[in-house]
Amino acid sequence: MTTQGGAGFIAAAFGRCPICGKGKLFTSYLKVAQACAVCAADFKAADTGDGPVVFVILIAGFAACIGLLVSFLAWNWSPVMLLSVWPAFAVVLALALMPVLKGLMVAVQIRHKVRD
Ligand SMILES: [Zn+2]
Repeated sequence: MTTQGGAGFIAAAFGRCPICGKGKLFTSYLKVAQACAVCAADFKAADTGDGPVVFVILIAGFAACIGLLVSFLAWNWSPVMLLSVWPAFAVVLALALMPVLKGLMVAVQIRHKVRD
């Protein structure tokens, strides 16, 4: 059974094979497996390079800037509070988003059969 439409992208966002939704997409934090262990889908063609990083920086940077502005203007946080909370928030959010966005990008490339 293969996943269709958005289900494959959701599976990939959670680190699962975008074809069958069962096999693991990553062998470690961000290392894409050679192929799916369950349905043998080939992941080697997918090479996202720096692609996901751009979106991670945009999303995490935007979220941290909004949080910083709100906490400074509305909640009157001190500069020490601002500088100890928001950079750490951006780093944690970026690390959490990386595998999700990389999984999505791999799924898009496999779906559209990207080749060199
Ligand atoms: Zn699979």
